[in-house]
Amino acid sequence: TAKRAGGGTCVVYDQSMAGDSTEQLALREALRHALDHGELQLHYQPKITAQSGEVHGFEALLRWHHPERGLISPSTFVPLAERFGLIGSIGAWVIEEACAQLARWHADGLHCRVAINLSPYQLRNPNLAGQIRDALLRHGIEPSQLVCEITESALIETMNTEGATLAELAALGVRLAIDDFGTGYSSLAHLKHIPAGQLKIDRSFVSGLASDADARAMVDAIVRLAHALRMEVVAEGVETSDQQRLLAELGCDVLQGFVFARPMPAAEVAQWLQAKGSEPASAPALAP
Ligand code: C2E
Ligand code: MG
Ligand code: MG
Ligand code: MG
Repeated sequence: TAKRAGGGTCVVYDQSMAGDSTEQLALREALRHALDHGELQLHYQPKITAQSGEVHGFEALLRWHHPERGLISPSTFVPLAERFGLIGSIGAWVIEEACAQLARWHADGLHCRVAINLSPYQLRNPNLAGQIRDALLRHGIEPSQLVCEITESALIETMNTEGATLAELAALGVRLAIDDFGTGYSSLAHLKHIPAGQLKIDRSFVSGLASDADARAMVDAIVRLAHALRMEVVAEGVETSDQQRLLAELGCDVLQGFVFARPMPAAEVAQWLQAKGSEPASAPALAP
C-alpha cells in the first residue's frame, strides 16, 4: 500500500502496488475524483531567454493535491492516468486550464507563451488538434502562444502512426517542442521530419556540465544540430549559475530551471515577475 507522506512531500508508489488490483481501482477512482473535484492544478515554471534574461514563456506542470496523501508528482500519476485510460480527460483539462490562464494573464496585461506537456496517448486521439483549436478559439488565444511539449521517446513511438496529428498541430500554428531530448534513442533521420520549432535538452546533460568535458561536447553538438535544423534550443534543469553561464556560452537560446524559479501556482507569477523586475517578452518577441 501507499506510504503516508507528511505535508508537502511526494508519495512514491512502488512496483508491488502496480500489481494490486484493489489498490489500482482505488487509485483510478481517486484520479477520477481529483479531476472532478479540483484537486488538479497547474504550476508554471518560467523559461528564460539566455541572452536577455527576459521571460520567454512558462511551462505548465500538473500537480495533484491529494487530500490525504499530499502532493503527488506527475511522474507518478501521469503514467497511472495513461494506464487507466484517464489521460485523455486529464489532458483535456490541462489544455482548457492553460488556455484559460493565458486569457486571464492577457486580461491583466501579461502577454506570454505557455507550454503544455502532451502524452503520447493524447497524440493518438485523432481529434487532438480540434480540441486544442476549440480551446484557443474559446479563450481568444493566438495559436503561437501555445507550445506543445512532447517527449522525444513519445515522438519516436508515434511518428509513423500519429504523424498526421503532429502535422495538424503544426498547421494550426501552435509550436511543438521536443522534450527530454537525448534520452529517447531517436535516429537523426527522424529528427528532421518532426515539425518542431523547439528542442529541449534533457536535464541529465545539464547536471554534469560544469565538471564533465564530455557533457559539454554533447550539449555543443546538440545545439549545433538543432540550430542547423532551425530549432530553438532550451536547456532544462538549470540549477546553478555555472551551468547557466556555460549553457549560454554553448549557444542555448532559452534556459529553464531552479536557478531561475521553481514551478509556482499562477497566483504567484505576477509577484515573481515583479520581484524579478522584468516584463515578459512582449508581442514582437512572440513572432515565430
Ligand atoms: P518535463 O516536462 O520534462 O518537466 C520538467 C520537470 O523537471 C518538472 O518536473 C520540473 O518541475 C522539473 N524541474 C524543473 N527545473 C528543474 C531543476 O532545475 N532541477 C530539477 N531537478 N528538476 C527541475 P515535474 O513537474 O515533476 O514533472 C515531471 C514530468 O511529468 C514532466 O517532465 C512531464 O513529462 C510530466 N508532466 C507534467 N505535467 C504534465 C501534463 O500536464 N501532462 C503530461 N502528459 N505530462 C506532464
Ligand atoms: Mg516538459
Ligand atoms: Mg523535460
Ligand atoms: Mg521529463
